[in-house]
Amino acid sequence: MICPVPRIQILPDALVNRIAAGEVVERPASVVKELVENSLDAGAARVEVELTNGGRSMVRVADDGCGMDGDDALLALERHATSKIRSAEELQHIGTLGFRGEALPSIAAVSRFVLLSAADSAVGGVRVTVEGGRILGAEGAARARGTTIEIRDLFFNVPARRKFLRAPETELRHAQEALWGAALARPDVTFVLRHGKRILIDAPAVADPSRRLKDLWRGAGRVIRFAVDGGTMEVEGLLAPGGGRGRPILTFLVNGRAVRDRLLVGAVLRVLREAGGGFGGSRVVVDLRLPAEEVDVNVHPAKAEVRFARGGAVFAIVERAVREGVSASQGKVGVSRLETGRLEAGAPAVSGVAEHSAGGYGELLRRRNEAGAPPLFSHPAYGEEGSVDSEAVGMEASFPAPYPAGDLPRSGAKVGPADTPFGRLIGQYRDSFLLLEDQHGLVIVDQHVAHERVLYDRIRRRLAGEEAPSQGLLTPRLVEVGEARAAALPSVEALLHRVGIDAEIFGPDTVRLSSVPPELEIEAAERVVEEVLDRATALDGVPERAADELEEELAASLSCRAAIKINHTLSPAEQRALLDDLVATENPYRCPHGRPIILRLSQEEMERRLGRR
Ligand code: ADP
Ligand code: MG
Repeated sequence: MICPVPRIQILPDALVNRIAAGEVVERPASVVKELVENSLDAGAARVEVELTNGGRSMVRVADDGCGMDGDDALLALERHATSKIRSAEELQHIGTLGFRGEALPSIAAVSRFVLLSAADSAVGGVRVTVEGGRILGAEGAARARGTTIEIRDLFFNVPARRKFLRAPETELRHAQEALWGAALARPDVTFVLRHGKRILIDAPAVADPSRRLKDLWRGAGRVIRFAVDGGTMEVEGLLAPGGGRGRPILTFLVNGRAVRDRLLVGAVLRVLREAGGGFGGSRVVVDLRLPAEEVDVNVHPAKAEVRFARGGAVFAIVERAVREGVSASQGKVGVSRLETGRLEAGAPAVSGVAEHSAGGYGELLRRRNEAGAPPLFSHPAYGEEGSVDSEAVGMEASFPAPYPAGDLPRSGAKVGPADTPFGRLIGQYRDSFLLLEDQHGLVIVDQHVAHERVLYDRIRRRLAGEEAPSQGLLTPRLVEVGEARAAALPSVEALLHRVGIDAEIFGPDTVRLSSVPPELEIEAAERVVEEVLDRATALDGVPERAADELEEELAASLSCRAAIKINHTLSPAEQRALLDDLVATENPYRCPHGRPIILRLSQEEMERRLGRR
């Protein structure tokens, strides 16, 4: 009898490698990542990467590491050939970046591949040429100690995958980000990235990671360090605030290994969004250290994702740490100093960042609530001892009072008729803050946060049942979101529809946007969809909490994206309209995340500071 089911066969190696390539090699950036990790594992002090055409045509990685002799070089191309791990026991404590012995054969299976390596320059090196997984030849060749691997025409023999490669600029961006991860993890190694004739990264070995960040991002003026020690878990990080435009670029290191993890991304994006519009284009590096047994790096073939034993605790500590970085960066602004000063009533004026950065907004809010802050219209910051930055203190001390005290009206003096719910509108300061006066003093309103509050309440109402206006797009927009996020779309489709965003699956890693709310730019809508998908994927496994959290996320994300930014001129009529809308919100004094919207400066305080009292 002939069995209709084919007999089980051992797959030929070449086929296994091609299948594995699908997991390890997604795009040129994955090749860069794997090769650079090998170079670092080989103890390189210098790693040079060169790409042509975003890596679509060529990726070359050269290092000065330990190199390989002829036998090793051939062995390295065998599947599961690795010099880095010998037993299952060792798998628990992996000190090297690679350990699966999959990368080289997988990459060689889907490209034209040349390996040139020497363990000892005196003995000479070896050149191995592979095409689509077939070893074409191995010969002696001269090379100083180290390894160069060159890959041309990635996926030339897998057209279905080649089709998924993006425009060279996009591939280049991914590759560059992959290299940032490695370069930030290892500031002690020199990294160079060339694209055609351009040198995109030139980062000499340094001792200080924030120096490295500045070398990687030449525009980084200010780099803020933050750290939280949570006992067994520890987070250190760097924040380079961006100009407010573009998406933030995030790098995560877990026990020294660069990873891409949705949970971590979600935690950081959440904090940046809470912080308002100013953090677009920022770069954030989060360096998380925790006991090896609390993290599994072995779940993802490219080791890009990790699994945490205590995901909730990781989320919380990362959130807390980044929040510190954010409030430290905002602490340089006089306004927030005034805000925080009162908390330390009786304490000396805040002069540094550290004193009030601890705990971030959540902490501020908690302390305020404990202090029994008075409700609306008597803002807690009002009438209390404020703090001044050291510059202002210096001026106060050295400038003689220009007028004798008593020339100015004391508090309680007449003010013009109030034309807004918050007092008389004076105007817009630096296209960013609305200035008003009331009978007690000066009122300053942050226009972005105010608008965010207005929109947030509106969106929550929409989610509760109001019909959402929506605008169909002439050409639907395709958004590449990655497979994991795309898979989460069905769980948020209905929710998005309720706020006027129509999105559907359009391929394994792509989402198609066909309508957006009229007040939102398409790019902003894209970001909103991405953020909600991030949240949805991070919430995987806790569906009972998901619905509420997702709505919250969506409302926060949408309102932040749609709100007018700072540096945006508003006509007096628009300013009044905004204030009218603001007073009607649930809490005009705080954004949904507790950030203050309004700052008051009493006349009393002004006078005291100017030496009139
Ligand atoms: P893994 O890194 O998981 O061990 P790879 O397929 O990436 O697997 O590499 C296989 C082996 O080839 C490594 O274990 C190492 O011995 C050798 N190798 C790869 N790249 C280099 C390099 N740049 N320098 C020295 N040895 C290397
Ligand atoms: Mg490797």
